[in-house]
Amino acid sequence: MKKTVESYFKTIADFPTEGILFRDVTSVLGDADGFKLAIDEMLGAIDGEAIDVIIGIEARGFMFAPVLAYTLGKPFVPVRKAGKLPRETVSATYALEYGEASIEMHADAISPGDRVLIVDDLIATGGTAKAAANMVEELGGKVASFLFLAELTYLDGREVLGDYKVHSIVEF
Ligand code: 5GP
Repeated sequence: MKKTVESYFKTIADFPTEGILFRDVTSVLGDADGFKLAIDEMLGAIDGEAIDVIIGIEARGFMFAPVLAYTLGKPFVPVRKAGKLPRETVSATYALEYGEASIEMHADAISPGDRVLIVDDLIATGGTAKAAANMVEELGGKVASFLFLAELTYLDGREVLGDYKVHSIVEF
């Protein structure tokens, strides 16, 4: 029987803190068949969509977005934690369980009207993804869709993303 993408995930209890069930994506990438299946299914999910730019969110979004960008012949743009990018940036702040965090992207990375695909390994509460969308729109871009390899459905991150189009390959 053909293996599913889900079957390549390892699940770690109490990581990074007690009570969290962490879905480890490195075990998907660490298997050549798993990695290929994941990328193929991600490409399949966005097949036919009009996309100008592909954004990946630090750090695990960097494991997928550049591969998709290379395959589709589109530019890859990194979204990074605050203070890492060398040129002029825009930033967005989002809530964490305790406190808040900021992410940034280069201000010239998106041109007005660009249709942007936002990629991360996983959506949990949706806060990170929504912050990335806010930056894209501040620069005049349009969110074509979000693409996640995995979605923690019990955290309802999709609701935070409202009317945006959201693709996820594996649901936990
Ligand atoms: P959110 O902002 O949706 O709450 O959190 C999503 C971010 O946290 C993503 O960048 C993702 O990499 C990371 N994340 C949260 N929980 C997990 C998990 O169980 N597994 C993995 N691989 N990443 C997680």
